[in-house]
Amino acid sequence: MKGTAVKMKGVRMGFGSLEVLRGIDVTIPVGSKTVIIGPSGSGKSTMLRCMNRFEVPADGEVEVFGNNLSGLSDGQLHNLRQDMSMVFQNFNLYPHKTVLENLTLAPVRLKRLTPAEAREIAMNNLEQVGVADKASMYPNQLSGGQQQRVAIARALTMQPKIMLFDEPTSALDPEMVKGVLDVMKDIARKDITMVVVTHEMGFAQSVADRVLFLDEGKIVEDGAPAQVFGHPTHERTKRFLSQIL
Ligand code: ADP
Ligand code: MG
Repeated sequence: MKGTAVKMKGVRMGFGSLEVLRGIDVTIPVGSKTVIIGPSGSGKSTMLRCMNRFEVPADGEVEVFGNNLSGLSDGQLHNLRQDMSMVFQNFNLYPHKTVLENLTLAPVRLKRLTPAEAREIAMNNLEQVGVADKASMYPNQLSGGQQQRVAIARALTMQPKIMLFDEPTSALDPEMVKGVLDVMKDIARKDITMVVVTHEMGFAQSVADRVLFLDEGKIVEDGAPAQVFGHPTHERTKRFLSQIL
């Protein structure tokens, strides 16, 4: 037992009168690989964003490595966030920085690494995701799949303990998807805790130890991939799966 990475208890939040999360309870063990699926608008991104306090719940608690996020000072939150990297649908690379600078900027600025260390780790990570030859190029000179692999390499450069992925392949041309998923599968072999919003069933089946199905702000299905995909207990899960499979 390696402890708990993220714990959400009774988490509720919304935007104005819109209720988005309607009581989320989940415990995510250290080193586990969780896939979150669910219809558009069901609250998947909001749930992820509550884990690093990009969003602040109206009610309930979020703990990361046993720290209640609502009780942290700005400095403590800043430190905790360095252990959590997020990969977005649209890459969010700095357009006016080279690929290498995209990777080295944050760890050096945050004094997590010296410039030399950052450069070495960055090059290793670019190597790992197969874009080391693009180090001196700018993001717009790369394909979407290459940009997303750079974004993943950048996330790795922070040496996070938790990686949050929000639909990392859904903005990609179909032929780019496999390369990105392969990189994510590679990362999943490590001890790192992964929480991945994705509708890539093959990825979920080969990597996830658990699949959560979110519907209208609630977790309505929670089990091993074979169970959730093969024997969903709720009608709405069956309907959703029949649309995406
Ligand atoms: P999902 O990722 O499952 O598609 P989201 O968590 O992004 O769902 O969004 C859930 C609902 O909250 C949607 O109806 C969305 O339009 C709304 N929403 C998300 N972010 C905001 C925001 N910043 N302001 C207002 N509404 C938002
Ligand atoms: Mg989303």
